[in-house]
Amino acid sequence: MKFLGLVVVGMFLSVKSFAFILMDPDYRIGSPENVVVNLASGGCQAAGISNQELLNIISDALNNYWNTVPESRLMMKPGSESSVPVTQLPPDGQVIIGCASLGASTGGVTNVSYTASGSARIRINSDFYGANYNYESLLGVIVHELGHAVGLHHSDDGASVMTYRASSWMPGPSSLSQDDMDGVAFLYPNEKELGGLLGGCGLKVRDYAHQKNQKELTLWRQIVESLFSFTSVILFFIFSIRFFAFQARMILSRP
Ligand SMILES: [Zn+2]
Repeated sequence: MKFLGLVVVGMFLSVKSFAFILMDPDYRIGSPENVVVNLASGGCQAAGISNQELLNIISDALNNYWNTVPESRLMMKPGSESSVPVTQLPPDGQVIIGCASLGASTGGVTNVSYTASGSARIRINSDFYGANYNYESLLGVIVHELGHAVGLHHSDDGASVMTYRASSWMPGPSSLSQDDMDGVAFLYPNEKELGGLLGGCGLKVRDYAHQKNQKELTLWRQIVESLFSFTSVILFFIFSIRFFAFQARMILSRP
């Protein structure tokens, strides 16, 4: 029975989960209640998008998406053009958005400083988005990249703004999915509310959501996942062989 229990645990550990994943268990944007999203020096003016147009889209991405999760204290606001160039990370708790030529394969790229009080730099691909950009599509890219900036990795859920699959919302999502909201509520829980209801809670989950996105998973996570998968397959085979051997013995020993 103990043996069977082990096999069952092994099988469950290798089951793929469908949920948000984190950029890094320890990464959080600094001062999440008051994150300023500035334009990098020059913004996207070289690509033909004025600072005001870009700030309007950022404002929509914040107020209609990432600032709409009641269970989370995350609150971001659009700033102005900063002196930080798009080649650098801004100070703690800030996000900058600018444009850069990124080639043919991507709408945007986000880099974060992997700390508990992090910052982020978003580059929008000027090869795709210029003066005659499509609003839904550029908004969709900015919403997605802001998700990385606050700490979410790609999701397996096609409804998520963080999905890496063919999404159900092309060219742009109309709202966050439940998966996205769960992600920011996990990263930045509304602790005041929790404290009032429960008197506080010491639970700290480091990283409960993981799934197969091998290319971008960190090496140790790949190793742990492979070990679990390998162990469960081996245990399953051993169990199967023992089970059939037992059945065979029963049949053979019949009078
Ligand atoms: Zn992405």
